[in-house]
Amino acid sequence: MSITSAKRKDVDIHLKVEQLVKELTLEEKFLLLSNYNKRSAFSSTPIGRLGIPSLEMTDGPLGVSWHSSNRRSTRFPATICLSATWDRNLSQLMGEAIGREAREAGKQLLLAPGVNIHRTPLNGRTFEYMSEDPYLTKEIAVPYVRGVQNQGVGACLKHFAANNQETNRRISSSEIDERTLHEIYLRPFKEIVQEAKPWSVMGSYNKINGKYVYENTHLLRRILMEEWGFDGFVVTDWDATEYMHDAAICIKSGLSLEMPRPHCYTLELLRASFEKGEFTESMLDDVVRRFLRIFFLTGILDQKQNAHNKSGDSTQHPSLARRIAEEGIVLLKNDRGLLPLNLQKMRRIALLGPNLDVKFGRPQYGGSSAVVPPYEITPLQGIRERCEKKINLVNDPSKADVAIIVAGLNHDKGMDSESEDRKSFDLPQDQVELIKRTAQDNADTIVILISGSPIGMEQWSRNVPTILEAWYPGMEGGRAIANILFGDVNPSGKLPITFPRRLEDSPAHSGKDNRAYPGDENLKVYYEEGINVGYRFFDTMNIEPNFPFGFGMSYTRFEYQRLRVSRKKIKNMKDHLVVSIDVTNSGPVNGSEVIQVYASQNQSEVQRPLRELVGFEKIMLKPRQTSSFSIAVQAKDIAYYDSEKHRWRLAAGEVELQVGSSSRCDFLSETMVCYED
Ligand code: BGC
Repeated sequence: MSITSAKRKDVDIHLKVEQLVKELTLEEKFLLLSNYNKRSAFSSTPIGRLGIPSLEMTDGPLGVSWHSSNRRSTRFPATICLSATWDRNLSQLMGEAIGREAREAGKQLLLAPGVNIHRTPLNGRTFEYMSEDPYLTKEIAVPYVRGVQNQGVGACLKHFAANNQETNRRISSSEIDERTLHEIYLRPFKEIVQEAKPWSVMGSYNKINGKYVYENTHLLRRILMEEWGFDGFVVTDWDATEYMHDAAICIKSGLSLEMPRPHCYTLELLRASFEKGEFTESMLDDVVRRFLRIFFLTGILDQKQNAHNKSGDSTQHPSLARRIAEEGIVLLKNDRGLLPLNLQKMRRIALLGPNLDVKFGRPQYGGSSAVVPPYEITPLQGIRERCEKKINLVNDPSKADVAIIVAGLNHDKGMDSESEDRKSFDLPQDQVELIKRTAQDNADTIVILISGSPIGMEQWSRNVPTILEAWYPGMEGGRAIANILFGDVNPSGKLPITFPRRLEDSPAHSGKDNRAYPGDENLKVYYEEGINVGYRFFDTMNIEPNFPFGFGMSYTRFEYQRLRVSRKKIKNMKDHLVVSIDVTNSGPVNGSEVIQVYASQNQSEVQRPLRELVGFEKIMLKPRQTSSFSIAVQAKDIAYYDSEKHRWRLAAGEVELQVGSSSRCDFLSETMVCYED
């Protein structure tokens, strides 16, 4: 759509919304603020008199969830796997596919993506979120949101904000200083709101510095709406307002929709508060107006939703799910080049482990993101299919050419699952024993991890030559795994999160008490590590992780040469520069690589992490091919948040731009100068 026709559409919607607001009675406006119809926990109240239907919502972000649609849908890999692809295009395609399926299911709002930062590996929802890094998070989320909304379905960015653990999620308070809040936890929301314009934002369960977001006029009204220009509507997380009874403060903050039932937006509370003059009709109109926009954006008020962008073919979605898994699976260790396996040279493969033949797509399994697919290929099925009866699949490792253990976690409570955090950082002990026993029987043992979060490996990783992180790889996961094992696909996934050696090494767990995690006896969770989250902490504190952020191996090798930077001076936040580099595939097979650009500004007056991701590009090269690639770096991504001036700023001083294949590698680097703006 051209800018002028987009503007025309905006004006048109604005006029239609204004007209509708005029026609609504006060009581009808109240009814729109929550779900009074009890028919479903995922619909708003319809206003029959004016032909306003209920807004139908469904959970994501791994696909259209079963419990909110009653349908089987494409089960995509977990969002952490999507981020591990470092591929913006795949993210857009996944968003489009889910948007398309949501529309086909009669839904207008997808409750996704989840963009909370990975602060602790124990968070039960790590698998649903994208990264420990705000830049990678927003780079993957922006195309996802655009993709969903291309399909005439609204995206709902969640959970705003600082919802970084499941323990006590409804009652705890995330205690965060202003700089950290903006620089790490609000940053993805800000950028996604500004770049992708999601039609909705979901508030979080937790408090921030003692206040629930729904009563936080500063955070919602001032920052999200006024400062960032968010013109969509805010919805609560489900029953997040259960402890709130002040309708006026929620209206003033800008809360448009309370789900799935009224707590502070009951008719009684609304009427009483309005009569007392605690809020005005024009304040009410603002939250109603924001909400009504989506009815026109999706076309449901004009009965146009089904006419929206009918492009695309849902029958291709399973193969898209497989591609995302293939690109997101991360090869962590491959001593002696054990992978890829050569089927011609093998007679027997031993297959073991608790996740070998498990299907994860079950109703509510893992929480609200659960998607039930029409079928699901387990690792066993995928490997069996690929081996085409030419190989004996056995379970005795001592009699096999190679042993494959499919280990990891699952979506049971206390593992990768909503509403509780993981109980342990380590693999269950029986799996550790299995790995050790198997490695004794067969030196060529491969461990495939199915998990949505980092796992402690100190007890067993040295015993095995090969480790593959497969995340929750979705309905085609077994095939994706087999394609990687047997070399049909060359792995190219890179970690979007640091894998620590020990839990105590990671920032939220390095203190002696519970203050930083899961919180003290007053339910306050102190974000004591400040801006040093994830690799920012490991690098700045010089702690060796097990596998660093951005790391992932390939069956080929890449060489980086000739780094060039388009300019040596950055003077204001709107500037950008271009980093160019030659990369050669010097190994034997086609391969994809993620070129990563980090900025390091250690001489500035304010404390900066040792390095921060500011750019990346996923590229593909044939053997012996060399190509030159350019990556744009925005000055705003080198900036920091000044909590005295309450704004983003460039710090004066030298900045080293480091280019490489992970956050810890032999970088090529160039220096430039930043001027204070
Ligand atoms: C989750 C949200 C989800 C909502 C509706 C809540 O428990 O935190 O992410 O969208 O339920 O199912």
